[in-house]
Amino acid sequence: MSKFFNEKLNGLVPYTPGEQPTGRKYIKLNTNESPFPPSPNAVMMASMASGDCQLYPDPDCSVLVKAIAQTYGVESENVIVTNGSDEVLNFAFMAYCCEKKAIFPDLTYGFYSVFATLNGVQYCEKPLKEDFTIDINDYILDDGTVFIANPNAPTGIALELDDIEKIVKSNPDRVVVIDEAYVDFGGKSAIPLIKKYKNLLITQTFSKSRSMAGARLGFGIADKEIISDLNRIRYSTNPYNVNRMTLMAGVGAITDGEYFRKNCEQVVLNREYTTVELEKLGFELTPSKANFVFAKKKGLDGEKTYLKLKEKGILVRHFNKPRIKDYLRITIGAKEEMTALIQALKEIIEEK
Ligand code: PMP
Repeated sequence: MSKFFNEKLNGLVPYTPGEQPTGRKYIKLNTNESPFPPSPNAVMMASMASGDCQLYPDPDCSVLVKAIAQTYGVESENVIVTNGSDEVLNFAFMAYCCEKKAIFPDLTYGFYSVFATLNGVQYCEKPLKEDFTIDINDYILDDGTVFIANPNAPTGIALELDDIEKIVKSNPDRVVVIDEAYVDFGGKSAIPLIKKYKNLLITQTFSKSRSMAGARLGFGIADKEIISDLNRIRYSTNPYNVNRMTLMAGVGAITDGEYFRKNCEQVVLNREYTTVELEKLGFELTPSKANFVFAKKKGLDGEKTYLKLKEKGILVRHFNKPRIKDYLRITIGAKEEMTALIQALKEIIEEK
């Protein structure tokens, strides 16, 4: 750290992204990407847009905002487009937490605490229950800005829409952010509730179900006043936050509903296959509605298993945190990748 660095940020511990190897080829089940390429529509539209790269992109992202609004049955004024959903989440911390603290589960997306520290926001982590479910009373009786991933990560467990509505309804004076990065794999979106509640912000991403993690595209859906706040921040940081290729790839992807649905269905089928096979090997799994499973086996050390899988050419995610140190978070890939994972785990168990 240089002597010039902002003292207020001395305590900032940056987010640790999952490994993105460039050398050896791994079966990559560690960062919840899609095993499928982006829609051919998206690739074609991005490629057409690349010829105009001498020009800045449309700062309003109008065509994409409109396409997202149409897809989700809302108005354009209810949509903001960002550089990955990480960006809209950061904007929400900037916009809604300075006076109020942020609250979120103790086991959830690791970026929330980083965004809080970066923005000088106090935060309170609410412990998940023993079975890793959320106790909604923690969010009804508190007074912070709420951040809940639904389904949650790394557990994959989803909240019912009724429970989300209870949280949103219980305090109209604070914003509730529902991070739906994984909702397309079996969760229920809270988007319809934005018509009823002015304090609800939904964030989603093109990184998972629309196979565009490398393009960096996310969005927020909320009442128009919330979207206007967030755009105020966007225009004060980087009005050109979404580049021309990504913008058009997004339009191509969101208008190819059939490709999207087919891939989501395949991921769900592969998740069911993986769950059954892991259970046969004696693993316990949380009930995941996401494109990953969260699993542990009694007597099997989480970190050692992660390292042994890596030696065998398979990357999964391990978190060195007390309650979950023996769990592995395994992204659902293509069927043959999941078969290879199961075979590798069988060998590891037998070697033991
Ligand atoms: N929310 C959750 C719960 C996530 O796991 C992720 C991806 N790691 C994100 C948001 C951000 O995804 P992106 O910035 O790629 O949209």
